[in-house]
Amino acid sequence: MPTSFVRGLKCRLCGKMYPKEPLNFCTEDFGPLEVDYDYEAIAEVLSRSKIEMRPENMWRYRELLPIDGEPTVGAQVGGTPLIKADRLAEALGVEKLWVKNDAVNFPTLSFKDRVVSVALSKAREFGFSTVGCASTGNLGNSVAANAAAAGLEAYIFIPADLERSKILGSSIYGAKVVGVTGTYDEVNRLCTQVAFKYGWGFVNINLRPFYAEGSKSMGFEIAEQLGWRVPQHVVVPMAGGSLVGKIPKAFQELAKVGLIEHARCRIYGAQASGCSPISTAVKNGWETHRPVRRPNTIAKSLAIGDPADGYFACKVIRDSGGWAEDVSDQEISEAMVLLGRTEGIFAETAGGVTVAVTRKLIEQGRIPRDEEIVICITGNGLKTQDAVAEYVEAPVIIKPSLEELAALVDGAAREPVLV
Ligand SMILES: *Cc1c(COP(=O)(O)O)cnc(C)c1O
Ligand SMILES: [Zn+2]
Repeated sequence: MPTSFVRGLKCRLCGKMYPKEPLNFCTEDFGPLEVDYDYEAIAEVLSRSKIEMRPENMWRYRELLPIDGEPTVGAQVGGTPLIKADRLAEALGVEKLWVKNDAVNFPTLSFKDRVVSVALSKAREFGFSTVGCASTGNLGNSVAANAAAAGLEAYIFIPADLERSKILGSSIYGAKVVGVTGTYDEVNRLCTQVAFKYGWGFVNINLRPFYAEGSKSMGFEIAEQLGWRVPQHVVVPMAGGSLVGKIPKAFQELAKVGLIEHARCRIYGAQASGCSPISTAVKNGWETHRPVRRPNTIAKSLAIGDPADGYFACKVIRDSGGWAEDVSDQEISEAMVLLGRTEGIFAETAGGVTVAVTRKLIEQGRIPRDEEIVICITGNGLKTQDAVAEYVEAPVIIKPSLEELAALVDGAAREPVLV
C-alpha cells in the first residue's frame, strides 16, 4: 500500500500551500484550508476493480482520503445501503428515487462516523492523546464512541438544551460531556479558544480540513452503488454546510481519476425554517449567508446559525444548477413518519428535513418528476423520538384474549389508548 497522496493543505481563498498540520485557516486571509491531493498519482494506482475487491466500508476509497498510514480509528465505518425507494417515490410522485441510508452507519448511527474516523485517525498520526468537538449531538456521539475504542480522551461540548438521547449517546462512552448554556455558535467559539489553550485535537476546528474529507465517502459510495455513475439530483441536509460540498467534490474526484465518466449532478440543500441561513441565502440570491442568532427548530442537529462553510455551500449549490429550501417543524415530523411508513426507515429530524424539502422541490417543479434523485438520510430516529411522538398512533391495549383482538381487527373496538 502506498502511503499518502496528500501534498499538503491549500487555502480555498488565496491558494497558499501549508504542510500537513492541525490547522484549519490560512494565516494570510483566514480562508479555510483544504486537503490537496496528487490526483495524477491516484489515477495511476486506483481502479474500479481494485476498489471492488476491498471490504465494504469507507476505507475502500482510502487513496482519496487524507491519512498517511492505515486507518486506526473507525475501520468499519461506511458501506451503508443505497435503497431504491419505490414506495416513497410513489408518495412523492416521482419515478426514480434512492435513499442513501446513513441512519445505520456504524458505530453511532449517523454520517458523522465518516468524518470522525478520518479526523481521529489523523489525530493519532499527529500524536494527540486528547480530542474534542463542538457538536449539535451526532458529532459528539461519534467522537465519544470512536475515541473510546481508540483509547483517546474525549471532551464533547454541546448546547445544554440538546435532546436527552444525544447527550446520553455521548456520556455512555465515558467522554467528558460539557453542556454550554448558549447556541452552537457560542459553543464553537469557546471550543476554538479551548483548542488553542490546551492544544487538543478538535475534530471540527484544528482538524477540520481532514475531518471534512470524510464526508466524501458518502458521495463515493452513492456513485459506486449506482454502478459507477452519478444521479441527476442529490438532496443533502445542511448544518455547517460541509457535507453538501463534499458530495459533489467526491463525484468530481471520481471523474478526475477516471472512475466515472462525468460528475454532472444538481445539488440541493435542505434546512429547517427555524434555522435556515444557507437556504435563505440561496433563495435570495445572496453570495453568502447571514447568521441566524437564535435557531429555533426540532432539527437540532442542523441548528447552526453561522455555518462555517456557508459561503461555499451557497456557491456549490448555485454552480451545480441546484437549489435550496427549508421546511417547518410540522413538515419535518410528518416527513419522518412518511419515510417510516413507506420505506421502513426511521430517520432523525434531519432526515425529516431532507424528505420534506425533497417533496417541496418536486412540488415546485425544481426537481423534475422523471429524473433520478438520491436523498441523503444522515441520522437515526431513535435519537430524536420526541419529534414524532405526537404524530404516530399509540398502541391499542387489549386483554390477552382472542375476542378482544378480533374486535380490534374487525375495526369495532378501534379506540386508540393513550399511554
Ligand atoms: C452534522 C449533520 C449534518 C450536516 O452536516 P454539515 O456537514 O455540517 O452540513 C446532517 N445531518 C446530520 C444528522 C448531522 O448530524
Ligand atoms: Zn489564504
